[in-house]
Amino acid sequence: MSQDIHNVVIIGSGPAGYTAAVYTARANLNPVLITGPEIGGQLTTTPEIGNWPGAFDNPSGFDLMENLKKHAEALNTKLIHDKVVAVSLNQDIKEVTLANGDVLKTKTVIIATGAQAKYLGLESENAYKGRGVSSCATCDGFFFRKKDVAVIGGGSAAFVEAIFLASICNKVYLVHRREGFRAEQVLIDKINALVEEGKVELVLNAQVDEIKGDGNVVKSLSVNIKDSGIREIELQGVFVAIGHAPATSLFKDQIKLDSDGYIEVNNKRATQTSQEGVFAAGDCADKVYRQAITSAGSGCQAALDVEHYLM
Ligand code: FAD
Ligand code: NAP
Repeated sequence: MSQDIHNVVIIGSGPAGYTAAVYTARANLNPVLITGPEIGGQLTTTPEIGNWPGAFDNPSGFDLMENLKKHAEALNTKLIHDKVVAVSLNQDIKEVTLANGDVLKTKTVIIATGAQAKYLGLESENAYKGRGVSSCATCDGFFFRKKDVAVIGGGSAAFVEAIFLASICNKVYLVHRREGFRAEQVLIDKINALVEEGKVELVLNAQVDEIKGDGNVVKSLSVNIKDSGIREIELQGVFVAIGHAPATSLFKDQIKLDSDGYIEVNNKRATQTSQEGVFAAGDCADKVYRQAITSAGSGCQAALDVEHYLM
């Protein structure tokens, strides 16, 4: 049975994937985009985007990504709601296998698989995942209305989560392992205002020791504070926001990754991986900038690199 050979298969539906789709569609390459398990990517988990140029009304991450999706679809991108489970990339015609068993054949692949939330790696954290431990305040914050919660981390994501949770919870403990923050200054200013109001308490120089519960739900968080020892905080929810790791394990035997698992690019063109015809865009290949707009920008570059390669 003959099977279509696509010009380009895009893996991932974050800002990088959808932007690559818009550009390759406008170049008449009839892109196929596999959305993956998280349709719209990481941004869909955040209540407000304040730094997407032009979107000065601060849309929710979900709304922004819905608009990107509509744009890609309006240009006749073929969206497949499935997950890639295997790839074969080291020949001219590449193969992309989906969870439903379908195998797509394609001349080029754009990998835009982004990143997945990291966890602390504690046994107790794992035991209470989905029962008080979460990595997404937008998704799960609702269950902790008027309750006490902790957010772990000192980056922008932790601050955004804490600001959102402070608007619905009784109190938010922001637990960070040192004193300095990576978060943007505008977010630090907002948190400081919430500290003044008593909605947020900073727990600094604190390592999470254990998440305790009754076997069913979380009851407290035990943290080890430098110079003062263990502190037990009674609460009902723990939101882990300590960054994301690139979702690249699928590709590790076929393209070069760096020691942290990010895809190595810029071999000949900005998004060119170590494999001819395979390009990578967004957070899966970027451990420095990791922004929606830089991901979208590299999605555009990947699309242009595909066009150039096919010529
Ligand atoms: P992602 O958005 O991570 O999308 C990856 C896509 O790949 C997903 O659709 C996933 O389903 C898919 N995928 C993964 N594995 C597979 C597979 N095996 N098969 C098929 N598909 C797969 N940045 C900003 O600029 N401004 C902000 O305000 C901002 N707020 C943020 C708030 C939070 C809580 C977080 C976590 C991040 C925030 N960021 C923000 C960062 C921004 O979300 C990321 O930089 C951006 O989403 C990365 O885009 P991406 O397209 O590379 O990947
Ligand atoms: P990040 O900037 O890498 O911050 C991760 C935080 O978690 C750091 O404070 C880190 O501590 C801490 N951490 C890491 N591992 C830990 C561990 N094992 N135990 C305890 N703490 C740990 O990640 P992010 O906050 O997810 O942000 C990722 C990217 O998205 C960034 O580029 C950010 O700018 C962007 N983003 C932007 C916005 C926005 O509104 N503009 C919002 C969210 C995210 P140390 O500081 O000590 O290393």
